[in-house]
Amino acid sequence: MYAPLSKDDKTALPSDLIGVSNRILERGMASDRLTAINPLTGDPLTGLGNAMRLRDEVCAVVRERASDPAPFAIGLANLDGFKPINDLFGPAAGDEILRQVAQRLSACIPEGASVMRMGKDEFGFVLPLVFERTGAEKIGTMLRDVLSAPFALGSRNVRLSASFGFAIHPFAGNDVEDLIKSAATALYRSKRRGRAQITVYSQEIAQEMSEATELEQALRNAIIADEVDVHFQPIVDMRTERVLGFEALARWHDAHLGFVSPERFVKLAEERGFIDSLSETLLRKAAKAALSWPPDLFLSFNLSSAQMTNPATAHTLLKIIERAGLSPHRLELEITETAVMADADIAQRIIAQLRASGIGLSLDDFGTGQSSLGRLRDFTFDKVKIDRAFVSGLGRDHASEHIIRAVVAMCEGLKLGVVAEGIEEVTEAQTLKAIGCRMGQGYLYARPVDSAATQAYLQRTYHP
Ligand code: C2E
Ligand code: MG
Ligand code: MG
Repeated sequence: MYAPLSKDDKTALPSDLIGVSNRILERGMASDRLTAINPLTGDPLTGLGNAMRLRDEVCAVVRERASDPAPFAIGLANLDGFKPINDLFGPAAGDEILRQVAQRLSACIPEGASVMRMGKDEFGFVLPLVFERTGAEKIGTMLRDVLSAPFALGSRNVRLSASFGFAIHPFAGNDVEDLIKSAATALYRSKRRGRAQITVYSQEIAQEMSEATELEQALRNAIIADEVDVHFQPIVDMRTERVLGFEALARWHDAHLGFVSPERFVKLAEERGFIDSLSETLLRKAAKAALSWPPDLFLSFNLSSAQMTNPATAHTLLKIIERAGLSPHRLELEITETAVMADADIAQRIIAQLRASGIGLSLDDFGTGQSSLGRLRDFTFDKVKIDRAFVSGLGRDHASEHIIRAVVAMCEGLKLGVVAEGIEEVTEAQTLKAIGCRMGQGYLYARPVDSAATQAYLQRTYHP
């Protein structure tokens, strides 16, 4: 059950940590005995304590220090990319990795500290002797390095990393639940910054959190009061400059906070779990506006990452446009590669359902984020939107032009439409046309404007 690290694996460990692996078996077994003693607070898979055990230990430290309080820390670690590994190698291999992670962690945490498995691929620590940020960061760095060595799975070696969040009592929370919440917030920050990051909950994070909460309240109220608006920006045929459709872009101006960018508030609504109600308001308004346009024009609507991990998304969207009376054939949804990546299986199902109903799909911001050409093969899209970063690079660097050429040629072969985003200069439009890019969008043609101004734009420019 306990696969010891091979000699090669040990050489991959930082030199001061080699001794750690030698203690792994011994302590791993010891934690098994713990579970046998107290199954209520134990994790049967790894032999560590569970989340309840962490709560008990935090309470015990607080109680012990009641007469002479001294700060201490807790930490959370979450494995990066564990799910794809689990999917690829199977759940038995996933379990084996979790056991090995547990052994390494319990072998190298300092004396007096403890490790628990909080659930899935998340581990927790109680660190009674760590009382400030640098101490927590030091332990985080050490644990991260220990987990960076390969894991033996039979004849194979698997590498993964972990992200960490720490919180110091009593600054980050007086009671155990607040403390865990702060550590979870710090962990979430680490995850957002990429892989293998370490964050200690701080005053600045607390400040940002309270600002985000203020923004959240204002946004929730704005949704209820119907104050979040949608603007529209034309997507044109670059040869004729004829409008083909409009992209809907969310707009919110709060009386106290002023203009808040959609990037910021869409992300907030995702994080705080009300993206569905925001998206519903926006799509309802956008669909209503689209009904007053000539029927050959499409409406392009952005979907967020969180929506692509919710199996109910296709059903919800279809209901909204059905109620609004907009034909699915006039709707296109813009999805980014990152959104598709979050949970490829669910995304694939959502995309299939949407396509079956006649809705079109565009791959947004192509070329940024986790670009992969495989994505174009695995998922069925109708259009690719080349990100503004490449368009604004035209004339400045050769690389952008070559990349756009390659994307246009590839889309031609795959029978996909291509839209260039963020065209601001006449020269950019000329180069794009010469390359063979047919559709364009950008300030050169029109800025996003509200539905009344969109009507006026159509009256000026649309001739059937
Ligand atoms: P996006 O989907 O890539 O939208 C294009 C962004 O480029 C828009 O920014 C648009 O105003 C801007 N833009 C268009 N032409 C030009 C140009 O020529 N130059 C420059 N500099 N910018 C141009 P915006 O409206 O600030 O939206 C930013 C992002 O926020 C969007 O990027 C999209 O990811 C997200 N977003 C906006 N509305 C929604 C929405 O209703 N739902 C969701 N989920 N996301 C939205
Ligand atoms: Mg878009
Ligand atoms: Mg875009």
